[in-house]
Formats: sequence, structure tokens, C-alpha cells
Amino acid sequence: MRFGFSLSDSESMRGAGSSFRRSRAGISPDRGSCVSTTSKSIPCSKRASDGLREYSKMIVDVETFSSCIEDWVLQKLPSNSCDKKLLFKPPFMVDELQKLDYALDGVFFQQLFRMPYSHHGYDNSREEKFLALVCFLQTIVDGLWRTFWHKTGEPPFFVSCPRYPGSRFYTIEQAVSNGRLGGLCGAAVVAKVDSDSHVRWNDVLELALFKSDITDGKSKAFSMLSICEALFYGFHILLLRNLSKSGASKGSSIYMLVLDSKFGGIIKFGGDLSRLDVNSCNPYHAVVEWIKNHAEVSVSPIDRVWNKLGNANWGDVGTLQLLLATYYSIIQWKGPPRKSIAHLATDQSLLIQKRRLQCYGLSAQIQNGHNGQWETIELDHQSDQTPNKLSMRPNLKEGEVIRLEDSQGQVKFQIKDIILVGDSLSYSAFTLDQPCKLFTLYVGVHPSRLEPSWEAMSLWYLVQRQTKILNIMKQQGVSSKNLPELILSGRVLHSGHCSKQNPGDCCEHPWCGTPVLVTSPVGEPVSHIIARYGSFCTEEALRFCRDILTSLKSATSANIQHGDICPENIVRVISLNGRTESLYIAVSWGRAVLEDRDSPAMNLQFSSVYALQHRKLCPSSDTESLIYLLYFVCGGEMQQQDSIESALRWRERCWAKRMIQHQLGEVSTLLKAFADYVDSLCGTPYPVDYDIWLRRLNRVVACSDKGKCVERLETSLRFEDVAETSGTSGGCSSFTY
Ligand SMILES: [Zn+2]
Repeated sequence: MRFGFSLSDSESMRGAGSSFRRSRAGISPDRGSCVSTTSKSIPCSKRASDGLREYSKMIVDVETFSSCIEDWVLQKLPSNSCDKKLLFKPPFMVDELQKLDYALDGVFFQQLFRMPYSHHGYDNSREEKFLALVCFLQTIVDGLWRTFWHKTGEPPFFVSCPRYPGSRFYTIEQAVSNGRLGGLCGAAVVAKVDSDSHVRWNDVLELALFKSDITDGKSKAFSMLSICEALFYGFHILLLRNLSKSGASKGSSIYMLVLDSKFGGIIKFGGDLSRLDVNSCNPYHAVVEWIKNHAEVSVSPIDRVWNKLGNANWGDVGTLQLLLATYYSIIQWKGPPRKSIAHLATDQSLLIQKRRLQCYGLSAQIQNGHNGQWETIELDHQSDQTPNKLSMRPNLKEGEVIRLEDSQGQVKFQIKDIILVGDSLSYSAFTLDQPCKLFTLYVGVHPSRLEPSWEAMSLWYLVQRQTKILNIMKQQGVSSKNLPELILSGRVLHSGHCSKQNPGDCCEHPWCGTPVLVTSPVGEPVSHIIARYGSFCTEEALRFCRDILTSLKSATSANIQHGDICPENIVRVISLNGRTESLYIAVSWGRAVLEDRDSPAMNLQFSSVYALQHRKLCPSSDTESLIYLLYFVCGGEMQQQDSIESALRWRERCWAKRMIQHQLGEVSTLLKAFADYVDSLCGTPYPVDYDIWLRRLNRVVACSDKGKCVERLETSLRFEDVAETSGTSGGCSSFTY
């Protein structure tokens, strides 16, 4: 087969656009007949293949290559061109990725090594990064092979790491012991050919280039150099395939995966090498001219692949792109699968229907509890429905104005910023008549558009369920400056004609009926603060503890437990009342636990022991999470956990060795005493005595606010129990931090 596969050809052609069709139609008849013969002869004349062989030895310097092609690449990047026709085409359509997402529903990809997370560019964990990369690729090929081709038996591929085109391949252990780790360029998926251990370049299905940073720094796009490098390696693989007997029939295109420790994307590259001028005195120039005129280059947007826990986001666009590229690469080598993506996606539809019903059930429940209070929000603009994630929800852009209506009338909000925390998206916005006051805007998805995906459910928790919880707080008269305030909740009504029949329905318009929650205030998540500025100082840690304990106490008074205390869900607001002062607020109350059947969020780093063991909360669970959070913001080392068992082991070890108390003790003896107190309470049915600890914390924080009592005794930390002595100390000067 000329292209080795039929399905992917037709599918990728839609993505690649018309020029792909042109290049295919332009295959010369003799080349076509050459491949259609049963013998796997080299599809070029002897002279041409000698020329190609020469080129494979001459085109060896990635920098020279890049300097020859960078102008061409630059002008095709989104940051430099307003004309969409000039840009690289994406290799995949969104609906292809969506189908793959459905088909893989329920497929478990087990990843053994996590990608180390570093905030900074420096690279002190290269070995772990490469182990994670190799593990990730092996997990992908194994998972795809077992899902689509053969359930049992060894997948016929392995992963190995080269240094440069034509170099030998290494396992990570070999690279480390030979001192070659620093020179590895990435990891390749290679077909197992026979028992000999020699890895050959012409058996490479796909190559994952691994760089310290692949982004262009601004948008979600590849840097120019990432693309140049991918083309350089891609060209070599195509060339070596073409020259080899076994590789020649494997198709004339290659998928290059380009990754760093956070993001990833695909560059698909191919073309008819018989059109390459092999007699040029300037081979670099000839190759670049061939790429410009005869090759097909498609470039995907980049997206997050690993979250900051180091786990791959399997259901997200970033990873789905890599999965789909690998799927097509396997087809190139092993032929069409036993079950196609479309087939498996249909198989999943029963399950999907079932989950959709569960979603409806849940939202119906919420709406009933809401006493029909849904109001109308009108949207000013005609939104395009292009999803940038696999989202059924259109996104708002900075500067957009939306009109909201509540029982008091209409309010216009203008979007100021997009706030992306972990996987959840919200906006900061202001009303047009009061541009100085900022609100947080959560945009959900209409119940009938809820897809059975993890993303849709998390949206439901973020908007509908959070609305319910904040309403309950309001009804019960719970208010605290450390809790978010519900400003407005309602639904979107778009501009133009709306054909919906009933108030709860929605018409075809993408915005129709979308629920929106507006809260106050807007703050910066603690996860961002720690990533940007590092650990908290003593003063800040005490204030943080006091504020969150206050919010937990207020919520408990209405029998509400937060259930998801983690760095992403605490925000800091800077108030400027006379002096700069920070205020911490627990946000994201969608996972709150009201009654026994509610289950909290499971966070391997911050959930309480009881939550991990029973999927329920005990009275001190949120406070226990606060202790882990304090440990984290005070610079304690959080180990990455990959299972509930390891998360439980970590907690057991920490408490047994008093690691948390030791860490907090270096910051403040009061916090250390608080950790001891929580330790005595973990997992018991006894409530937290908020008042006594808030009194102690308040005294210290108020004291530091006056700016006269903070003394850091760096060397002579007193380890007496401040909690015990504070009652009689009479003044704050006796406190040590
Ligand atoms: Zn409508």
C-alpha cells in the first residue's frame, strides 16, 4: 500500500487540506507502480538513492538547517500572520479527537513514572524526566495496541532514545552509565523486528523530541526552533525509511511528537522524496526548497500534557493529539486495527447515555432546590463555537461584554481576565457602571449539553453545585470575609432570535441557557503565589492559617464542609485599607459535603486520611487538609503520589515521624502546636475547637499587623508549647516564631 493505511489517509486529509490531495495526485506513475509491486524494492533509481544516502550524511547540523528554513517557518506562525491561509494546517480535526476520546472512555493508561514538575527552566531532573517520557510513550503504545489491535500478548513496539539523526539508541540506564543522558534528543517508538538487539532508525514509527521549553512564550503555539528541529529530525527519518527495504513501504509521512515537561503537540511531516534535488551543491538549500515546495507540514496547537502532579491528562486535547498521532503511526506499520475508533466510540454510547442521565438527574435536583430562581442573562455578542479544548462550552475572551439579568434587572459585565487554575476556568469581570470592583465569573454548561466527560462534571461542580452551596450559606445567614459572596446566579440569553419553548430549555445557539455564577471577590490562587514567589514567611503563614480556619468555622456553622481544600482553591486578596494586607478566602465550594451521601474531592496530596480511606469526611478533615496545605506553603516537601495507598503511606510516615510538626515548628511554634492538636483529632468523630485556635492565631496576627512584635529568632527557636503558655503570657513579646 502506498500510504499503508486507508482510514487515516482519508481522515488526515480533511485536516491537511487540499494541498495534501494535490501532492498525492502528483505521484509519478513509475513511483506508484514501484510500490505496488510485491517486492519491497527501493522505490528510487540507484543514482537517486545514492544521492539520498549522501544527503543523510551531509545534512547533520540542526543549526545550519534551522537557519536556512527559519524565515519560512516564522512567516507561517500564528503570531506573525493575520492571514489564516498562510498558517500551517493542523494535523487533526477536533471531532477526530473527540471520537478518540469517546473510544478510549474506560481505557486505563497506567503510568508508572511521573513527570517532575519544576517552575523554573533549570534542569536538575533530566533522568526522571526521560524516565517519565519513556514510560509515557510505552504506556501509549501498549494501551492503543491492546485497545484497538490485540488484547493479549506483547505489543510489537518498544521505546528507545537516540541522540541525533543516525546515532545509536540508548535505554535510560545505558545513557546514564555512558554519560550520554545530556545528549539525548528525545525518545522513539520503534518496531520490534527480530531478536537482534540493534535498534535501527528505519524501524522508528514516531519520534518524540523532548526539549526544555517548546512554547513560543506567548500563545499556545510551538516556538520557531521547535518546528525547525522537528522538520530536521523528520526529514532524516523519512530519508532513512526511504533508503531501507523495510521502511520504504511504511508511508511517506511521519508524526513528530514535540514535548517539554508540561506541554506537547504534533508536527506531521511528509512528502515525495523523488522530487528532492539530490545533485545540488548546497544540500541544505535543496532540502529546504523541497520542504517548501513538495512536502506537507501540519502543525498542531500545543496543549498541556502533564499536570503539576506529573500525571498525564489522559482525556485532554494535549494528550489526545499524541494518542491519535501514535494510533496513525501504528497503522502505518501494522495495518488497520481490528476495531476502529468509530466502532469503539459507538460501543461506548450506551455507557455515555447512562452517564448523561446521571448528569441530568443531578442538575434537575439542583434546579429544584433552587426554587426556580434562575434568571436570564443576555449575551451581547455572537460567539463563534470553535472549542479550543474538547469543550461543549464556548469561552469568553478578554474585553467581551455580556449582559446579565437578575431579579433586580440587567447588569452588563465586561470580562477583564481569564483565570485558569489547574483544569478549571473562570473569569474576572466588572460591571460597566462600577469598573473598579472586580467579580469572579464562573461559566457552566446547559444541562442538555452536559457531556459525560470529566470536564463537564467538573464544570457542573464549579457552577451549578457551587451555586447551591453558596445559596445555602446565604439562606443560613453565614457570612464571613473569608468566604466568597454570591452576587448573582442565572442563565445566558443570547442576542438575536431565541427559539426555545420553555424557560428551562435551550435553542441551537451555543450560549442559550448557559448557567453563570458571579461571586466576589477576585483573588490570586495560592498555587500561583507559591509558584511565583516561593514559600510564605511566618507572618503570612499565620495569617493564612487564621483566615482559612475562620472560613471553615463559618461554613461548619451551617453544617457545610469544604471537601477540597488545596492550593488551587484558596485565593489571596490584597486589601489596601491604610496598609497593604492580605486576606485568604476558601473558594470552589462545589465539592462541599452537606450530608452523608456527598463525597468529597479526592486529592492525593491534600485530602485527609479519612477522606482517602472512606470517601467521606470526618469533622476534622478540612482542618487536616489545612495542615498539609500549611506544610506546603511553609516549604515542606510534598511527595508526588500516584495512588491512594502511597498517599496514605506518606501521611502515616509524616505523622509518625512528626515531619509536619518539625517543618511547621521552624516557622512558628503556634503552628506546630496546632498541627499536634489536629494530629490528635484526625479520623475521630470529635469536632475541631475553632474558637480556641482562632483566639490564639488572632492574637499573633493582630500583633504582627501592628508591626512591632515580629521577631524572628533564627538560631534559638524555643520549642515550648506556645499554645499552652499563650494564655498567660499577657503580651505578644513572649511569642517566638
Ligand atoms: Zn436561545
